[in-house]
Amino acid sequence: MKLIIHRGTHEIGGSCIELVSANSRILLDFGLPLVDSNNEQFDSKKIRGKSKDDLIETGVLPRIKGLYRDETPSFDAILLSHPHQDHYGLLSYANPRIPVYLSKGCRILVEVSHFFNQTGCELKNIETVEDGHSFKKGDFTITPFVVDHAGFDALGFLVECGGKKIYYSGDFRGHGRKSKLFFKMLRNPPENVDYLILEGTMIGRDEGQYGTEDGIETKLASLFKSENRLFFIACSSQNIDRIVSIYRACKESGRTFVIDPYTAYILDRLKEVSEKIPQATWGKTMKVFFVKSSHTDKLAGNKILYKYKSAKITYDEIREAGNRLVVKSSYYLRESFARRKLMPGSKLIYSMWEGYWDKEKDFWETNSVPFEMVHCSGHAYISELQAFAGALKPKWIIPNHTFSPEKYKEYFGRHRILQAKDGEAITL
Ligand SMILES: [Zn+2]
Ligand SMILES: [Zn+2]
Repeated sequence: MKLIIHRGTHEIGGSCIELVSANSRILLDFGLPLVDSNNEQFDSKKIRGKSKDDLIETGVLPRIKGLYRDETPSFDAILLSHPHQDHYGLLSYANPRIPVYLSKGCRILVEVSHFFNQTGCELKNIETVEDGHSFKKGDFTITPFVVDHAGFDALGFLVECGGKKIYYSGDFRGHGRKSKLFFKMLRNPPENVDYLILEGTMIGRDEGQYGTEDGIETKLASLFKSENRLFFIACSSQNIDRIVSIYRACKESGRTFVIDPYTAYILDRLKEVSEKIPQATWGKTMKVFFVKSSHTDKLAGNKILYKYKSAKITYDEIREAGNRLVVKSSYYLRESFARRKLMPGSKLIYSMWEGYWDKEKDFWETNSVPFEMVHCSGHAYISELQAFAGALKPKWIIPNHTFSPEKYKEYFGRHRILQAKDGEAITL
């Protein structure tokens, strides 16, 4: 069997790994890069309208025969680990005759992003997979494991072929709302793993090597109780763990979490995966502000918006109940609230990766709104990566999804490290 990491051996984003056996080929993830060749933020607008050959020439698409739309497909499957674009964002270039295997939650969020024109990735030929249920694809036996990550319903994959076992970690952590799964894996890991393809997002990052999703909930509840003011909170609508933490903190502090219709729709769609996911229609802890935006228009145009009417909250109600609310910020919402002069006296909680703060900072500073960072990483801290590697005891660790592959030696000294190069075929 051969392993080719097409992208990810020395960068975060654009994940794409191929496994080839005598008769079969599978692809693990097919993500959009997060950085360009100059290590600057990748601009996905720049690739719109460009041909496949152009994109291969400029290194955006990996050079992989038998994968793309204009070729006879020679892949048995594409496996998606989770619904973050750095893991699936190039899927629209793949031949739709190749079946895509993914979790139910991943399917829904990929569909949602396509519905709102955030991606061109339309799912057509799919199979949903479940935690611990193995399936065969050609020479490969694949077992998906649901893992704890900021991306919803994320999977790691154990792939067996020709007597060899490879575990692909995908993106994961041990301190989110599904940390139980992480500890379960430590207690009961797959045995005799030969190769662990291990994400290392947090390796080489000095900031934020602590904090848990439970800790976020506690911190938010205490802020909401102790400060008598309107709170804005900036977070991703697709980070369901965080949305749940905010919801629970609101419940505990007697506040109402005000979301936009886009977020309400995501939660509504994810009911199919878990009935525990909070819904806008449940009562007073969550309300929906019908902010004017292209997303709201899209929901109205498709006769979906009316579903959240019973949970609707207006400007006047927000003005009146301000210090009992936590309003989820978005570009359109904050602009319209600023025009209506709802900013004075409020505070922003910034609950996203610090790297995005620069884009937001000016707005809040101009409006003299104080801010506080309350966030924990969607990725495993170094201590969690070490515990994971220690439990799996792989013969080799292969660095992936990291900007610091050379540091693995330092952190995983007891293991042998196999440092691959992008595009290089390694015989396993
Ligand atoms: Zn991710
Ligand atoms: Zn990722």
